[in-house]
This record gives sequence, C-alpha cells and structure tokens, in this order.
Amino acid sequence: MMKVKPSRYNILHSSENGNLLVFNSKSGAALCLDEDKHIEKAKIILLNDVPSLYDEELFKVFTELGLLINIDSNETEEVIKLYNENFQSNKKLHITIFPTLKCNFNCSYCFVDAKFDIDMQFNTLDAILLYIENKMRINQDLIEIEIVWFGGEPLLAKSSIIYFMQQLNKINTHYNKIVSSVLVTNGYLLNIESFKQLHEVGIVNYQVTFDGYKTTHDKKRHLNNGFPTFDVILTNLLTIKKAFLGDFKINIRSNFMKDTVQSQYQLIDCLLDQLLNDNRFSVEFKPIQDILGNGLDNICSVDTNGDLVISFTRYIAESIKKMSNLVYSYSLLPSPIKKWCNASLNDSIIIKPNGEIYACDSCVSDKSQIIGKITDDGTINYTDVFGKWKGNVQLEKECLACILLPLCMGGCKRKRLQNNAQCPINTEQITKYLENMK
Ligand code: SF4
Ligand code: SF4
Repeated sequence: MMKVKPSRYNILHSSENGNLLVFNSKSGAALCLDEDKHIEKAKIILLNDVPSLYDEELFKVFTELGLLINIDSNETEEVIKLYNENFQSNKKLHITIFPTLKCNFNCSYCFVDAKFDIDMQFNTLDAILLYIENKMRINQDLIEIEIVWFGGEPLLAKSSIIYFMQQLNKINTHYNKIVSSVLVTNGYLLNIESFKQLHEVGIVNYQVTFDGYKTTHDKKRHLNNGFPTFDVILTNLLTIKKAFLGDFKINIRSNFMKDTVQSQYQLIDCLLDQLLNDNRFSVEFKPIQDILGNGLDNICSVDTNGDLVISFTRYIAESIKKMSNLVYSYSLLPSPIKKWCNASLNDSIIIKPNGEIYACDSCVSDKSQIIGKITDDGTINYTDVFGKWKGNVQLEKECLACILLPLCMGGCKRKRLQNNAQCPINTEQITKYLENMK
C-alpha cells in the first residue's frame, strides 16, 4: 500500500442529519458519508492521520478523490507551481480588442466609458497584426492565439473585425497556429447575414448576454433610445439555429442580482423551450459579484441570500437533466482553477481603439492603469505600471496558508495590487454549499 497522508485541502463538515461531508479544494472532490462506522473512521483518518485505521475500501476511495495523498508530496508547492506556470506560460497569446467604444445599448451598470465616440483605425488594427506576427515568428512555444472582440458593441465595427480576421488568417498560413476568436456581443445586430460573414472569417464562438427574461432584460438592457431588445436578440438566435447548419458555439450568459433572480427562472424555461437539444448553444448563469468591494447592496450571494441562491441552483440542476448542455457554469460547489482571471496571465492584453493597453478589463476607463501603447510598427511602449501588473506578483502569505487557495488562486489581482484584497470565497460558503448538496 502506498504511504499516504491526509490532504491539507480537506474540508470536513458534519451536517445536521449526522452525515459527514468532505470536500477537497484541490481535487474538487466532494463526498457524503452516512454510515456511522465510516464516519468515525474517516474523521480520525482525515483529521489525525492514523494509518492503522485505514481499510482497503476507505483507502481506495480517499486516495482516488485526493483526500489522502502520497506522503512525499507537497501540495502547496504544487499549487504555487501551477500558479507560476500559468502566469509565465507563453503557449497562448490572449488579446482582447475593443474595435469601438460606441454602443447601441445604454446599460446602467456598464463600466466602459462609452461617451468617447472612438473607432479603432486601420493603422492600429495593422499594428496589432504586426504584434501578433512578431510573436508567431519569435516565440517557438506559441501554440494558440485567442482574440476576444469586446467593446462598446463590437458589431458596430463589423467591417474592422472582418478585415482583421482576414489578414490574421492570411498571416497564419505561414505559421499554422491555432487561431480562436470569441465575439462578446449584446446580440442585437447578430442577424443571420452578419453571422455568416463572421463565421466565414473564423469567428465561431460567441457570447451573448441577457439580463433575465423579457421585462427585466428590457428594463436593464435597452437601446440608447429606450427601445426594448429582448425579442430581437432571441429572434436572431433562433434564426441562426434554424438557418445555419454548420458548427458554432453561442454561450448565452445571464447575470443576476437579488432583484432579478426571479426573472432567471422564466429565462431558463424559455431557453429550454426554444433551444432544446441543440448543443451549439450553452447557457451560463452568473451572480454578479462585488469583487472590487464597492458596497453593492443588491448582490445575490450564498452569504447574504443563501436560500434564494440555493433554490435557484437546484432549479438549474433540474433543468440540466432535461437538456444536459443547455445550462452550466453555476454549480453548488466551486471548482479548482488555474487562474482567477486573465489579468494574471503574462501574455494577456486588452487593447482599446486608440491603442492603449490594459491588463484588467475593469480598469479600461482608468488612465492611471495603462500598461502600454501599441505603435504602428507593432511594438509596445510600456509604461511604469506595466511591471506592477505583469511582474511576477507572488501569492500572499495568508493565501499560501489558506485551505481555499486552489479555488481562487489569490483572487482579484487588481485588489491585491491595491493592497485591498478581499477573499472571493470563504469556508462558511463551502459548508453551506455542502449542506445543500444533493
Ligand atoms: S484570497 Fe482569501 S480565500 Fe483566496 S486564497 Fe487568499 S486568503 Fe484564501
Ligand atoms: S483583476 Fe480583478 S477586476 Fe480585473 S479582471 Fe481580474 S477579477 Fe476583474
């Protein structure tokens, strides 16, 4: 039998009905023990490491789930290694491009400063292409280039996107890298003609955002002139579904807060009804989080609105049974991650229409956070702030000691840089999730 010890990332919780619930934040495994003989043994083994109590059955299950690990392994070192490898990796180049800051919507919570009526000019598009080509030529490790189109509403600059993708595809005939592209759109202009044009230049991944069902959505996400948008977006999606036979991925994202969670139920029902059995569509329900600690009072979290979140999550779990790939990304237990967001990646940049470069998408209206500017020859003039974002920011001591590190990898980098870090998750949340797991 391999020599083992309990993982330091085990979380044990005795539920009200006497079961022992075990979760491992590094492997993501969750286990419910309901037989007294197993519960007692498991507690002693996992809390005190008493090898004499190991029996074959428990040993096998516990090692498979990562609750018991090889005695020589150093789990914290493994997590730090993952963090560093991910930060330093130059296998994938992530570039988010804002081809315009204009938007046809006027959403109350938008963080992009849309009052600047700026489109990206061709010299900047060409500069980004040169930047990518340089990376393709110089970086032998580079495997994939991922372009995310964001804005403003990127489809207001559709011709720039098509031009850029055509040029990039041409360049790539010499280098043969994987080029993937995601278009993040409000969906209002995503009619079948535009969809076909974009698909032809290689954009096969889309994210379309709803804010709940019709009435709620139309209140929050309306046109600049106040006109509703829900029906147009849904019609666009249904037309694409019927009229386009090829492959693509459209992820429908719906964000919710305390006052909009009820409307999500109607949205799930509507999507189940309309998109049933088409695995080219997926749906992601995300509670808006107060990552920056701005004191938003309408947040729907397990801490503040446990019952609401848990009933909603159960409804999603039930819906998944009806349509396996329709609803995802909102589960009762958080999973281990490699990074909290792309801001932690060395090779990830966000480019605004005027060529300014940022690391974090919530900073794009804050000039003090510009990390560089792209020049016409495809190089970047870096600012002093660059090192702050892209230098190797080490994990804090308290994170290294924290049992939840594999679930958040230190959390929001912006907050950490401001020495104002807030934990995005806590053990009470995990035990609440465990209590409600079925
Ligand atoms: S940010 Fe908080 S929850 Fe995350 S690892 Fe650090 S101390 Fe733990
Ligand atoms: S650093 Fe923080 S604010 Fe910026 S994108 Fe990441 S999570 Fe969001």
